[in-house]
Amino acid sequence: MRINNLYRQVIMDHYKNPRNKGLKGFRSSRLRNPSCGDDVTVEARISNGVLEEVNHDGKGCSICCSSASVMSEVLAGKTIDEAKEIISSFYKMIKNEEFSEEGLDEAVVYQGVSQFPARMKCATISWTALEELIGDGEVEQK
Ligand code: ZN
Repeated sequence: MRINNLYRQVIMDHYKNPRNKGLKGFRSSRLRNPSCGDDVTVEARISNGVLEEVNHDGKGCSICCSSASVMSEVLAGKTIDEAKEIISSFYKMIKNEEFSEEGLDEAVVYQGVSQFPARMKCATISWTALEELIGDGEVEQK
């Protein structure tokens, strides 16, 4: 993939040293991307409308796994509303639409993925899993 070098380094760092990896048994959501073999579970500890802690586990390609790690850092500590806003900005960025960088922090490293439609799902899968998780509000999942 032809991605800016600095961005590439951040992605590889999160791939090799994933942050917040390993589940602790909070409410979780699992998504798979058969075309690439990505299989990601995301969980969050939510208290008073705030994502106190975000963890992930699973396997997949470097884009998918690193993105889950970045996502867990970017969204931890945010309110559910803030998280939804940031997730929506992330999708816009991946689709090469106009987006706000506010709150995205390190997640901007996936900008280049917009040039590779086949990898878009890899970059967004963990974000979609979290979106499903918080979209349900307080409803208990599986
Ligand atoms: Zn993938």
